[in-house]
Amino acid sequence: MDRQKMAILPVVIAVLVFGFQYCSSPKFKNPETGRVARVGMSEAQEAALGLQSYREVLRTAEVVRSGPEVDMVLRVANRLTAATGEAGRKFEWQVSVVRSPQANAFCLPGGKIVIYTGILPITKTEAGLAAVMGHEMAHATSRHGAQRVLQSQLANTVMMGAQSSLALGDMDPQKRQAVLAAVGAGAKFGVLLPFSRDHESEADEAGLLYMARAGYDPREAVTFWERMSSAGGGQPPEFMSTHPSHGTRIARLQQLLPRAVQEYERNRR
Ligand SMILES: [Zn+2]
Repeated sequence: MDRQKMAILPVVIAVLVFGFQYCSSPKFKNPETGRVARVGMSEAQEAALGLQSYREVLRTAEVVRSGPEVDMVLRVANRLTAATGEAGRKFEWQVSVVRSPQANAFCLPGGKIVIYTGILPITKTEAGLAAVMGHEMAHATSRHGAQRVLQSQLANTVMMGAQSSLALGDMDPQKRQAVLAAVGAGAKFGVLLPFSRDHESEADEAGLLYMARAGYDPREAVTFWERMSSAGGGQPPEFMSTHPSHGTRIARLQQLLPRAVQEYERNRR
């Protein structure tokens, strides 16, 4: 076999491995949005990973144990977790408040929530906090972390196939570097990166329903995002770097509002 033909072999293997990884990964259907996606981790693996990260975050943070901020966060969390229905039933929800000037909040896979005190002046009301928390909880119940793990596994397979092929083939070094850079650009699915647009839309949709079902006016989600986009002055808050509040998000939320308002009226206390 000449070198050129041999170079095809890793590609063929990579395609086979890619196909196997993709087809053998289980499907998950989001009960709120109906969206079906493939995942790269089991729910038990997600829960274990989430718990581990939660402990790591809290170990180095100043955890607020009591006081009005904690009371409010717990109250909102309790109402929201009860509203996650089927998707959140197996979760062992837990929430911590961290003293920090960072305007940030997140929910780890499996339901471990962290709220930074720096976001409270922007959330302002309980409904504003419910908008943030509902959105973050929806990332977890929608299993976006497990979907990203699969994406990164698939990207690795592509990278390995391309690299072995280029190593074997007779491509000139310059061309080779360009191809590698292109493939590498598709392999940027790190855990700390912002969620994709699809995942953001889905978290917006499910989060809005959680909030409405929990008895918080979903219209306040729109005012929260408006406040968020104008907050921070020169330096945008942490939350903004992973959740850009473009006009498109506000417009999309407005589209989703009628269904959420209906849900809110039905669950009004
Ligand atoms: Zn998000």
